Amino acid sequence: MAKRIAVVHKERCNPQGCGGYLCIRVSPDNRMGKEAIAIDIDKKIKINEDLCGPGIVIPANRCPFHAIDIINLPEELDAQPIHKYGLNGFRLYNLPTPVFGSVLGIIGKNGIGKSTAIKILAGVMKPNLGTDKEAGFEELLQFYKGTEAQRFFESIKRGEIKTAYKPQQVDLIPYQFKGTVRELLEKIQAEQQKIQQIAEELGLQDFLDSKVTEISGGELQRVAIAATVLKDADLYIFDEPSSFLDIKQRILVSRFIKNLAKEKTAVLVIEHDLILLDAMADLINIIYGKEACYGIVSVLKSAKEGINTFLSGYIKEENVRFRDHKITFEMRQHFSGKQHQKLTEWSGLTKTLGKFRLEAASGSISKKEIVGMLGENGIGKTSFMKILAGVLQPDSGTVDRNIRISYKPQYLEATDALVSDILKDAMKRHEHDIVKPLELEFLMNLKASELSGGELQRVAIAEALAKDCELVLLDEPSAYLDIEQRLVVSKVIKNVVSNRGISAMVIDHDLLFLDYLSDRLLVFEGKPAQHGSALGPFSMEEGMNRMLSTLNITMRRDEESHRPRVNKPESVKDREQKKSGKLYYT
Ligand code: SF4
Repeated sequence: MAKRIAVVHKERCNPQGCGGYLCIRVSPDNRMGKEAIAIDIDKKIKINEDLCGPGIVIPANRCPFHAIDIINLPEELDAQPIHKYGLNGFRLYNLPTPVFGSVLGIIGKNGIGKSTAIKILAGVMKPNLGTDKEAGFEELLQFYKGTEAQRFFESIKRGEIKTAYKPQQVDLIPYQFKGTVRELLEKIQAEQQKIQQIAEELGLQDFLDSKVTEISGGELQRVAIAATVLKDADLYIFDEPSSFLDIKQRILVSRFIKNLAKEKTAVLVIEHDLILLDAMADLINIIYGKEACYGIVSVLKSAKEGINTFLSGYIKEENVRFRDHKITFEMRQHFSGKQHQKLTEWSGLTKTLGKFRLEAASGSISKKEIVGMLGENGIGKTSFMKILAGVLQPDSGTVDRNIRISYKPQYLEATDALVSDILKDAMKRHEHDIVKPLELEFLMNLKASELSGGELQRVAIAEALAKDCELVLLDEPSAYLDIEQRLVVSKVIKNVVSNRGISAMVIDHDLLFLDYLSDRLLVFEGKPAQHGSALGPFSMEEGMNRMLSTLNITMRRDEESHRPRVNKPESVKDREQKKSGKLYYT
């Protein structure tokens, strides 16, 4: 029989708001004298887990704030958690196991235990095996007896494994260190030659003597990666190394991380950009479950199989369906832009911003099409979108703005407005096609300033899509979103565009996201911070060919899921495609 667990989301529990412990008042078991639900010392509720079995009714659906989850775990899961955050708290089952000589990728939603798993492996956190005490090494070895994890923890116990860990939030580094990039790296590594070598490989030379407080997010990310690999370690862990990086930097970093795995070195990466993860990882662990409730680490798979399993939403070996639909990439005939009527156009745009100059040749967007916008950081994509949105005026050239436009900027303002006020229109007209799929109904009582980066992003996307418009402009909608949310957001955008017959233009650095969404591509070329040209929109094949030729990579489609994959440099496919000039397979 499936095991039942109870999770209380304490941050949502609001006894005053529900009229005074509504769940306790309506609980049939409490009314019969059993203390199935009780008041905890923090004045929120707690659920008696011993009374959580069959026959006991916990009225989770009566809570107006969705603060209770009662979950039936998969029947096959007859295990103790590796860690549990207190009574009625999140629990993680199993751990990924790093493998020497390989890059192990971890895929899963946010809030599913990836960071907990990483912290346990890095030795930053001691697991409790679901009890209220930290487990000692002997208990851990017993817990993992006969598995690869047992050998891993034995090596840790003998002091044979040193770990280096790049955290997710690199934007916190300037709050902790005020010196230059060089000074930061010298604190970690005394050998100048090593610093020089890593700086060259990661392209840090131009800003080595800049202050950490003055460099961009993409530069900070590469500094954090450099600081991690300059440590002498056997296990390197990278939590979201692609954040803030453009496509060129993503490819550079993925090659760099891949090359770190040696006979006596293991690498573990959490990454939401699937093309990048595919290019870096040899092996994959999927973590599935329910956010903030429980996470289960799946069996180890090859990178290709792991990603295809993730997209399929079904793990055969464990007989677990963790998503109700498959994500498939159609072998479609991409939109040529000629089938539909023109929606709007621009011609001969120029704009100078300080030392940077942007130019855009004539172009147009058709009705019912989605145009992806691709290029390096600092090359004018955002400025171009602002000109289309009317936020910036061009120095010369014209834009036909005789249409209703909705615009989501790159940087979002976390105001004190309530989500329910921001999404009033969306709730009225788009509850089923926007609000529900983006899982925003749980956020309605919160202020925008109380949301996480991913939540704020989803609210801003919903607000932009719900407006009465003919063209929606979205600047980096995948930022801060986990892999599952990126897939959902791309589906929602596609559905809104096709059902309402509107058009969209989307700037993003996640190639898989853009490949799934776009009918055509506007490509930005030039020199970052100096000049940029907007070219196109091109057909997907032509646009991607242009982009990939600047990166010197080729891509093919996976035979099973049809998702795009980067070819290994100098592989047979890579050489063949370069020779034929078909760098991208549509
Ligand atoms: Fe009220 Fe919900 Fe908290 Fe129960 S869980 S006390 S119903 S807010």
